[in-house]
Amino acid sequence: MTNKQLLVLATQNVGKIKEIRELLRDFPVEIKSLADFRPLPDIEEDGTTFYENAYKKASFTARFLGVPAMADDSGLVVEALGGAPGILSARYAGPAATDDDNNQKLLRAMEGKTNRAASFVCVISIAVPSGMAFTYEGRCRGLIAQSPAGERGFGYDPLFYYPPLRKTFAQLSREEKNRVSHRGKALAQLKSEFEKVLTWIRRACR
Ligand code: IMP
Repeated sequence: MTNKQLLVLATQNVGKIKEIRELLRDFPVEIKSLADFRPLPDIEEDGTTFYENAYKKASFTARFLGVPAMADDSGLVVEALGGAPGILSARYAGPAATDDDNNQKLLRAMEGKTNRAASFVCVISIAVPSGMAFTYEGRCRGLIAQSPAGERGFGYDPLFYYPPLRKTFAQLSREEKNRVSHRGKALAQLKSEFEKVLTWIRRACR
């Protein structure tokens, strides 16, 4: 029997934990989450890029717990807004903003803009306790709609129109969204290289 490699997901998001467990279920890896350990100090997401924030969460967790850790950071980058909301996507309309608040603010900021181009970006970082890390990035290009459409998904999905399917992300099924989304693409890359990642983790943690 192969020994399973422990990997901690540096997130409290139950949906993400489930998705990653499912994705990596055929690999010899035991996925734990932060809920399985004593509370960690808060990690301030003060990086200036998705990469910095994902790496900070993964490397801090790996160092603190002494085991390999994986984290992600994602958001919406709108061309006409100079890349906003970007790394501030979750808090665009303020620290306690709801998805609805953020979407309303985005629509106001886009009033009169002819360039509606935007991308969702997702960066995944897998770090070992020494600080070395692997990074994966997925992007999905679309347009900011004039008004929300669709009931599914979360965050900016009702405003993110995806031209190849002529629907917003909130009008897609979960499977349809996963096939084309930023997170789906980053996770697909991670999965396709996961054997290599496991070998690297084992060597780095010897
Ligand atoms: P986090 O990386 O999970 O913290 O996500 C940051 C924020 O980006 C979320 O709170 C959403 O506002 C936005 N976001 C990230 N991914 C998506 C997505 O797939 N759909 C809609 N909004 C998203």
